[in-house]
Amino acid sequence: MFEIIAEDHLGRIGRLRTASGRAAETPLFLPVINPVAQDIPASWMKENLGAEAVITNAYIILRRLRDDALRRGVHGILNFDGVVMTDSGGYQVLEYGWVEASPEEIAELQEEMRSDIAVPLDVPTGLSGREKARESVEMTLRNLEATLEFLARRGARRCLWAAPIQGGIHLDLISYCAGREKEMNFDLYALGSPTPLMEGYKFDKLFRMICAARFAVGFGKPLHLFGAGHPMIFPFIVALGVDMFDSASYYLYARDGRYMTETGTIRVEKLDYLPCCCPVCSRIDAATLKQMPRSERVRAIAMHNLYVCFEEVKRVKQAIRDGRLMELIEQRARSHPSLYQGFIEIMRDEDLVKLMEENAPISGRRGINLYDEMSLGRPLVRVARRRLLENCLAGRGSGGEALLLPETFKLSLEKALKLPKNLDILFYGSPYGLIPLGLRYTYPFSQTNYPRALLDSNLEELLAEALKQFMAAGYKRAYILKPETRTLKKFEEELAKKLRDLGVAVEELGDLGELMSYAGGWGSAAGDESSRNV
Ligand SMILES: [Zn+2]
Repeated sequence: MFEIIAEDHLGRIGRLRTASGRAAETPLFLPVINPVAQDIPASWMKENLGAEAVITNAYIILRRLRDDALRRGVHGILNFDGVVMTDSGGYQVLEYGWVEASPEEIAELQEEMRSDIAVPLDVPTGLSGREKARESVEMTLRNLEATLEFLARRGARRCLWAAPIQGGIHLDLISYCAGREKEMNFDLYALGSPTPLMEGYKFDKLFRMICAARFAVGFGKPLHLFGAGHPMIFPFIVALGVDMFDSASYYLYARDGRYMTETGTIRVEKLDYLPCCCPVCSRIDAATLKQMPRSERVRAIAMHNLYVCFEEVKRVKQAIRDGRLMELIEQRARSHPSLYQGFIEIMRDEDLVKLMEENAPISGRRGINLYDEMSLGRPLVRVARRRLLENCLAGRGSGGEALLLPETFKLSLEKALKLPKNLDILFYGSPYGLIPLGLRYTYPFSQTNYPRALLDSNLEELLAEALKQFMAAGYKRAYILKPETRTLKKFEEELAKKLRDLGVAVEELGDLGELMSYAGGWGSAAGDESSRNV
């Protein structure tokens, strides 16, 4: 039912197949469709955006379109033959405090109208305080049990069933709810997210909720996030393990004159230009958009908002394929201080980062760009350093000698062959620490680009890493070549000084020639002279 095709840290591209045989690729954005009045029809979304899935509301259908839905199915009433997910009406509970339907009625309708993905009637927590939140979790769990009993009595299921995870901002309640649901054998999980968190840019809270849910349900089944409709958060939620998300924001924002971009929202009246080349924005200019009659303008902005959402999903997918999802979220974190804050906080979560490290890509099709200390905290950098230390450098020196060359040094084969062969060659001044010659042209070391400023402003940290690696390797002597560049010069001087302080015999060399002239003496120690002249 769900197959993972590509992974990058906790983000993944997957293939979701429903009981009806319909399929969609995740990460998947499902626009909300009002079944009664389709402001932007689902068929338009399929044709123009390639939408593979939409979500609509089973409760509204039950109240207003029940007979039609039973006759034509939910795909018939939406005039859409892709994947249709139906929400249960929990949203109406949140809005009005109650719904006139039982869990069984809602479940039966979803099965009968052949929703591809159905959601049992839940009781959303919203932004409730702790006691109300606990009640909503217990009520939701009771509804889920009732739904499962009902489905068991009915026999074969037509829908995939998604368990709504409640608990609001109370992380222990989320963990509890998700943990109970994991035991209930649902096909997917769907985290209820209080819309005010997103409206209020409380991304740190939202990200923590996602982590709590993901950790509790594990990584085997898809995780849906309700109400996540702004493209600026798509890369983050996917990087935290969310596979699907839905929202009506594209339309609600449009009604409110808010124009989405992948890095934020702009009020239409403040737009002098339309910074987008979607089919809507390439046909009109900002002045024309502002002068349109209201209904036409809302429709145009909503369509634009949808284009931006779908475009960002594609960008996220490409980043996953390229092993660059973390780089994308690092860039996007700078879209807004609240996103930055949320990003910093998730990267401080040791459990999460450890899990990300375990899932860091071991190869990549494209280069890695590092920018600053935030980049140095990337799971890929941490894991590359750790693997260097544990798998490659620890014990490597065993009392021997190392030649430390600046990272920028071009060591030709000819020169390398002239060096004493008992000398281990390591490169210093890289964000990863000391890179042995044999690994210099492997992933990620040779594919990493970074500005010199990264070394300048993180000298202490990078020095400490190099020292740790050198001492773990256990060399007794180091020859260190002075570099040409100013930044590396400082690095070299500090490294040499600190190694001496730690009792290592250090000899600084002006150029490699000096070392080669020693070669005669070492050569005999090294033994087989001829093997160097292969
Ligand atoms: Zn546009």
